[in-house]
Order: sequence, then C-alpha cells, then structure tokens
Amino acid sequence: MKSSAVWYPFTQHALEPAMRRIVGTEGVYLVDEDGASILDAISSWWVITHGHRHPTIMEAIRRATETYDQIIFAEYTHAPAEDLARGLIEIAPPGLAHVFYSDSGSTAVEVALKMALGFFHNSGQPRSRICVLEHGYHGDTIGTMSAGERGVFNAAYAPLLFAVDRLPFPEPGREQATLDAFEQACASGDVAALLIEPLLLGAGGMKSYPASVLSELKRIAERHGSLLIADEVMTGWGRTGRLFACEQAGIAPDILCTSKGLTGGALPLAATLCTSEIFEAHLSVDRRKTFFHSSSYTANPIACAAALANLAVWRQEPVGARIETLVARQRRHLARFADDPRFGDVRQIGTIAALDLTVPSGGYLAEVGPQLRAFFRKRGLLIRPLGNVIYLMPPYCVTDADLGRAYDAIDEAASLFGAGQL
Ligand code: PMP
Repeated sequence: MKSSAVWYPFTQHALEPAMRRIVGTEGVYLVDEDGASILDAISSWWVITHGHRHPTIMEAIRRATETYDQIIFAEYTHAPAEDLARGLIEIAPPGLAHVFYSDSGSTAVEVALKMALGFFHNSGQPRSRICVLEHGYHGDTIGTMSAGERGVFNAAYAPLLFAVDRLPFPEPGREQATLDAFEQACASGDVAALLIEPLLLGAGGMKSYPASVLSELKRIAERHGSLLIADEVMTGWGRTGRLFACEQAGIAPDILCTSKGLTGGALPLAATLCTSEIFEAHLSVDRRKTFFHSSSYTANPIACAAALANLAVWRQEPVGARIETLVARQRRHLARFADDPRFGDVRQIGTIAALDLTVPSGGYLAEVGPQLRAFFRKRGLLIRPLGNVIYLMPPYCVTDADLGRAYDAIDEAASLFGAGQL
C-alpha cells in the first residue's frame, strides 16, 4: 500500500497491507466489499456506543437534513444547539452550566485549555502552568500533543510543543507521589489547570488509577484556586460504567471535554462544558475579554440533532442495563486469563477490558502490534492493540457470543505469539 491518494492517519503506508473497503455498517459489524462481516470490537476508535447506525439517531439525522445544513454560529443560533446545551447541562456533573461546541476531541481539549488560561487572564491574575498526568493522551493538535506524553509520535514537532508539568502516573502504592507533585506545583500559585483523563488513560495504554486519586487531585486544585479539566472524550458516555467517569470519584470538574459518544458515534461533534465562574470571567464591556475561538463547522445543526437523538436513546432505552450486562460479561471472560503468564496484567475498567501481552521488549512500535492486528483481521475482528496492550471496547449491544469470539481469538493469538508463530 505504498502509494495512495488518501493519506491515512496513524498508517505506515510502506508497511501496511491494502486497506479493506467497508461498504456498510450494522450493529456491532462492519461489512466489507466482499460481504464479509467484521466485529467492531473497539467501536471504531471508541466512538460507537449503541451500535452502528442506531435507528433513532439515523432518523434524527435524516429529519435534520430536511431543515438544516451548516449555519454560522455567532450572531445566529439554532434549536438543535440550544436544546442540546440544555440537555448536556442536565446530565453533566453539577456546576457545569455552559457549553462551547467544537468538532473533535482534540478541539474540545484545546478549547478547555484556552478557557482555563482565559479565565485567569480576564480575572487580572494570569497563570501560565498546565499540569498533566504522565502517559496521557489528549489529541494530535499542537496544544493537545504538548499536553500528551512525549515520544516517537510527536518527536518531529517538539520545537512547537509547549512545556507542561508532568505528574508521575499514580502507580499502585505510589499514589501519594502524584498528589505531592501536584501540591508542590500548585504551591507556585501559577497552575491554571490540571488536565486529566479521569480514571483511565486511554491511548497511553488503558492505564487505570483509583477514583480516590482523582478526588484528592480535585481537592488540591480547589485549595489552590487551580482548575480541573476532565478530558472525558474517551471515558464519557458510559465507558467506565457511569455516564461520566468523574461520577465515580464523586467530583465535578471545572471544565469537561466530551466528543466520541456524544452523537453515539454517528457524526463529528464535541462540547466543552464549564462553570459559570469561567463563563462570567469572559463577560465584559471590554471586547478584549471575548472568548476568541471558533471553527467553521461549530455546532453543526445535523450533528447537534444526532447528539439530541443520542440523549433520547439514553433516556428511552435501557442503556444502563446494557452497560451492566457488558461489564459482567467482560468480567466473566477476563477471569479465564487471571494469573495467565502470557499476560503481564489483565484489567477491567467498566465496559473496557485490557490485557498486556507479555513481550520480551516492546513499547508502542513493537512489531507485535501490527502482527496482532493482522491476526485479528484474519479472524474477522477489528481489534487494534496499543503496542502489546490488547483491549476490547465494544458497542454496548455486543452479544456474549461475539464477545466470546473476540476472547477466543485473543487466547489463540497469545498462544501463537508464545510459540513464535504469530
Ligand atoms: N482525548 C482523549 C482522552 C482521547 O482518547 C482522544 C481520542 N482518542 C482525544 C482526546 C482526541 O479526540 P479526537 O481524535 O476526536 O480529536
């Protein structure tokens, strides 16, 4: 696949096999041009929550196209965006009272960082430092790369990345080191915000940490007047077992970023929610205090209609029960790998399961990742390990039989790898 008119993301064109052309989707399946079904065990990069092409969401999109296309979103507004903002505020952690729209998880985080700095700037007490957790991932734009883990992915862009304070990841038994590092950074009085993936670092290897660490970090931030930005782009919409992961820690962030499952995965849309305090710091007769951010497709009405339909699905269907069922099934399937030496660690965070394949050496670029992908592809499964971390994050409607098929393939792949035959 050396030459291609399309330049695909995260794709080494010189090495990857030919792209598989998908001609349709249904429930938990992608269907390719040969009519083969592929189980989408990672919800197409974590966006599909209720299954592909949920009828309620598709119908809402169809209806919206009869009335809307893009409408400029300054000076003019529309009902889908207004209704969605009210709907989001109703279900979000308490205190979040305003919704700023954008188009992707990365932009939701960029907006959050700008809101945080804007808050202090406009309050006349500017702050300059951003704290993050080691191993974090927040997107691939310059700002979000700056906040994310540094490494091979962003080495070329290092000259453009800004400095952040990296707190050590709260490894089991070493949680206090994280809290101490944050306390120390905050003591400078210059920390605008802690940007953090609540409970679970996704692209950084599905690494989880206790909810108590998150609630302690929130307490420290509060004490020092620093803001907590929860990047719930991955963890939101039920993935950890609750609607938002922050609920598990019983905390409300000052800013919350959401995307992916916001439209059930049907259309690109993102929202950054913030408190009245942050919004009001931007209210002034001085136009210089305006929140200077927009993108052309901000609050696309059709995407907003899809997100409203997603809220309706959550209200009208037993989504919570489906999630509970999936959580129980993941636990049962994972149990067969407990104490299995082929895996260094096996863990579950709500609906998400992760298994670290034991490898002699590795990291993200280890050959085992593409080898595993190729194996799963042959088995009709879309599973994209993060290096040696094999994870399953399926849509909530996945059947036990399909889930079992994914685990059987993981079992077989681990044995083949162990025998040097993958
Ligand atoms: N934050 C987190 C926690 C994510 O997992 C992702 C995407 N995987 C992003 C931000 C970026 O989202 P997007 O790819 O939609 O820009």
